[in-house]
Amino acid sequence: MENVIIIGTGPAGYTAAIYSARADLAPLILTGSQPGGQLTTTTDVENFPGFPEGIMGPELMQKMQQQAERFGARVENGVAVTNVIHNADKSFTVEAHNVFSPDDKKVYQTKTVIIASGASARYLGLPGEEELVKSGAGLTACATCDGAFYRDVPVCVIGGGDSAAEEATFLTKFASKVYLIHRREELRASKIMAARALANEKVEPVWNSGVTGYVLDENKRIKAVKLKNTVDGTESELAVEGVFMAIGHNPNTGFISKDLVDQDDSGYLIQIPGKTATKTPGVFAAGDVADTVYRQGITAAGQGCAASLEAEHYIANLEG
Ligand code: NAP
Repeated sequence: MENVIIIGTGPAGYTAAIYSARADLAPLILTGSQPGGQLTTTTDVENFPGFPEGIMGPELMQKMQQQAERFGARVENGVAVTNVIHNADKSFTVEAHNVFSPDDKKVYQTKTVIIASGASARYLGLPGEEELVKSGAGLTACATCDGAFYRDVPVCVIGGGDSAAEEATFLTKFASKVYLIHRREELRASKIMAARALANEKVEPVWNSGVTGYVLDENKRIKAVKLKNTVDGTESELAVEGVFMAIGHNPNTGFISKDLVDQDDSGYLIQIPGKTATKTPGVFAAGDVADTVYRQGITAAGQGCAASLEAEHYIANLEG
């Protein structure tokens, strides 16, 4: 019987692991298919406190893992959780399988579960997107992380929601021009955020348009996007050096039943207000999997800390 099983290895999962390990709970961490989470898909991280020169995303996550392991956390790589079952004796059964061979099933028993499985930015599904993101070639889904790399060059934001409006406004601090490419001619964003973005003289909306491809220069960096008008089908190219995707995120919650943890319409886990605890005692949620607002590495880390402290308290009460 484990004390704590942590599902996910982004900043929330590893911070929960560091705190649980230092509390002598010997946590078991299951990495899933993307060890290190979303930060491993970015290059320079300049906004995580403690690294004045910045740090590469994968290196930051490696350091968090080392810090957790130093205190006795155990990391099982390549294990994807498929179900969490609440047992009659208040414990949990975690069912999983090997991500490389799904027939290789695994079952764990635990007193508490911290769900820190994160969210995945949506991309358009065009060929080569994954490589463009990984190589830092001009495609990203995080203006806060990467905006400062695009000083005095034209960029575009794809999407029409609050994220797109907010990111377009933010990017005007750096970019020479911010094209806001939306598939309709009206933003979904709240009136105030839409008005703020559109009032900025650097923001130029490109209505009724979808991106159908990326045009690369000789260094394999983006130099333009291909556009298709969603009304009349006309095609064109727009010169940009950075493409910021803001078409929403998908929380990684497919393996969690709504009987165990309430979810909003998009699948984000719902915590008890002001806590990381969920409606099922012993199950805690931390980081992007339950965050529709901030979605930052440091806010996820803070929630991971809180989840660990709450789990420790819960276990102490079980035993007391
Ligand atoms: P969102 O509200 O779901 O908006 C996604 C946008 O992307 C929509 O405009 C949608 O177009 C477009 N889109 C979706 N799939 C697309 C595709 N395949 N191709 C082209 N466009 C596509 O997502 P979000 O903006 O990330 O916001 C998520 C939640 O967080 C919202 O509740 C939002 O209010 C909240 N949020 C709040 C703040 C804040 O208050 N500071 C900041 C950011 C986000 P359509 O409009 O045509 O559907």
